Amino acid sequence: MSDLIARVAVAAPLPKALSYRIPESLQHQAQVGVRLRVPLGRRQVVGYLLGFAEQPVEGLKDVAEVLDREPLFHEQMVPFFEWAADYYCHPLGEVIRTALPAGLSGSVQGPAILTERIFALASDSDRPRGAKQRAIVDYLRQHGATAMALLKEQFGNVYNSIRRLVEQGMVEETSRELRRDPFADMPAAADIPVVPAASQQAALQTIDKALKDATFQPLLLHGVTGSGKTEVYLRAVQEALTGGRKALVLVPEIALTPQLVGRFRARFAAAGARLAVLHSGLSDGERYDAWRAVARGEADIVIGARSAVFAPVAGLGIIVVDEEHEGSYKQGDGFRYHARDLALLRGQMCGAVVLLGSATPALTTFYRAQQGQTGYLPLADRVMDRPMPTVVLVDLSQQRPEGVLAEPLRLALQENLERGEQSLLLLNRRGFAPFLLCVDCGATLRCPNCEITLTYYQQQRILRCNYCDFSLRPPDLCPACNGSQLAPEGAGTERLEEELGELLPTAVIGRMDRDTTLRKGAHQRLIDGMANRRIDVLVGTQMVAKGHDFPGVTLVGVVNADSALNLPDFRAAERAFSLLTQVAGRAGRGEQPGRVLIQTYDPDHYVLSCAARHDYRSFYEEELANRQVLGYPPFGYLANCLLAGNDEQRVIAAAEGLANSWQQLAGDGAVEVLGPAPCPLSRLRGKWRRQILLKAASRPPLRRLLSHFNALRGQVPAGVAATIDVDPLDML
Ligand code: ADP
Ligand code: ZN
Repeated sequence: MSDLIARVAVAAPLPKALSYRIPESLQHQAQVGVRLRVPLGRRQVVGYLLGFAEQPVEGLKDVAEVLDREPLFHEQMVPFFEWAADYYCHPLGEVIRTALPAGLSGSVQGPAILTERIFALASDSDRPRGAKQRAIVDYLRQHGATAMALLKEQFGNVYNSIRRLVEQGMVEETSRELRRDPFADMPAAADIPVVPAASQQAALQTIDKALKDATFQPLLLHGVTGSGKTEVYLRAVQEALTGGRKALVLVPEIALTPQLVGRFRARFAAAGARLAVLHSGLSDGERYDAWRAVARGEADIVIGARSAVFAPVAGLGIIVVDEEHEGSYKQGDGFRYHARDLALLRGQMCGAVVLLGSATPALTTFYRAQQGQTGYLPLADRVMDRPMPTVVLVDLSQQRPEGVLAEPLRLALQENLERGEQSLLLLNRRGFAPFLLCVDCGATLRCPNCEITLTYYQQQRILRCNYCDFSLRPPDLCPACNGSQLAPEGAGTERLEEELGELLPTAVIGRMDRDTTLRKGAHQRLIDGMANRRIDVLVGTQMVAKGHDFPGVTLVGVVNADSALNLPDFRAAERAFSLLTQVAGRAGRGEQPGRVLIQTYDPDHYVLSCAARHDYRSFYEEELANRQVLGYPPFGYLANCLLAGNDEQRVIAAAEGLANSWQQLAGDGAVEVLGPAPCPLSRLRGKWRRQILLKAASRPPLRRLLSHFNALRGQVPAGVAATIDVDPLDML
């Protein structure tokens, strides 16, 4: 037998794949998509088998072990991984490691595969003697092969009887793999059959045609809140399955959108389609099971968050990206990919329809639709002729609130409670107050590890950093001047909840934010409380704005619209518009019409006036003009180079050095090198941070420049880490 050579991506910071010899004893186990143990220097590391080459090469090291019995991804995934690694300037092995389910990465051994023991009647069995043994044999004759657990349920302790039956050859023992059930604690929903509205029908026609063409087609489903986008996804997926192909459905965060998963289950589980849900709430073992089921082709529909874009589905007909504008599709550290962008690439590589859905598409997505690069499917109206909610801007400079809520919102909340209708309040700040302020000297209490104030939590009597979790008992005296008056400044959800309790003493109030939903099931309980109308008022951070469908909500209040507008980021306006539109869209989804009150000091701001009129297009025009002036996306392409380290001077020096190198390489001026400058969060988790922004009017010169990154990174001095963020979403 000739030498077989494996192309292997090792889980280490190397840009390219390496070659290893596969010893004859392992050749029958070596398939593309399995993990290997391979030597690297003096260590042994995990690698991923990407392919084979048969020419003999001298001096190659041997693969030490094949770690999987079956592939974790198929061959067509390899070019996809390679392209992603190249595009995001990230080591190939780390890309694959990020793509595969957690639990496979660190340890060499993955999570255990669970098996159960199964017993069946042997072909020629006599009647056994003991009563229990006879009962077991009769049971097996009637019911066929049965698991040990079930026999125990039927007959109590059966261990000895079974052992004797097996010894006598009357019963045969086998084992089968036990698949951990990822749906165990997901809510089921009823499938409500609806007749598609005309606009839904029109969208579906285009989608069906695209599916029949079986080529890559990007489509934007731009539907106002409550226009029935989910129904379009469901039918589009059904159409793909009918055509014998499979579907991948990406959602921003599974844990926050259980309703969508519930609707898919309700529609498809009954029809016999096999659904796999990949989400971070699963244990490592459950995720591993679901993943392997997908890799074996045992799932027709895969639903998952960001990382599900790497799910090894073969024969994809459609990829749905729900709420395509959502920031959570972008991974914020390590391999900083954008799942929507990778979904488009994947669709291109496998000839699938990519359906992007949103009420507030990303500016860049809508721009592509305007340019004709993406098909445009509008759903301009809510289902059943339901009106959009009316939106009123409450000018806080005219209506100064005593606490957090100004008079118009207080009245509206009271009225709504009296009518027995539900309200929802958005305040995008956790805790009681964003900081404690010394009334005497104006000092604030800051995190020692981060350039940020410590959030004050009153119920727990603690000050905590929302970035690094550092916490502290609130001191009695100001650490700067020994003053004795430290006052909570500003308001978070906890304070709002308290104020509401005083305003509406008889109301049931729920709070939904990261602090109240830590415990398993807590988030679901809040959603259930809203769905069955036990909760009168739900307050919370942007979590409350996610695609929930609560028909009883007729009033939505936004406590402070300005905080979102004032962030030092060129996407702040886009994000604020989308958040306001999404949360407003929670009102009036049922029979009763809805209204929205937005509190602001800046009622003339275009983001607010456009959101108040549900006018995406005017917002888009205005924002697009701003972007054009600044050369920001979609008119420019960005990459952000970040440097971080424990020693400030070293980070500064490294940033200067790297900026010089970029400058020299950029040469002709097709790419602008801006900085280095301190990041807006100039210190985070104890690390000092500097950034260099690379900006170009077209992509090719930027990509040419970025191709040097791996070499440049090697020159950065020890103690400073350089990373690159291609198409950064925020630059904090
Ligand atoms: P969106 O995601 O666009 O905000 P949803 O998909 O949540 O809207 O749909 C809103 C509600 O309208 C859901 O309760 C859904 O069952 C219902 N619905 C969708 N399509 C129709 C239709 N054609 N006729 C009646 N009700 C519909
Ligand atoms: Zn901190």
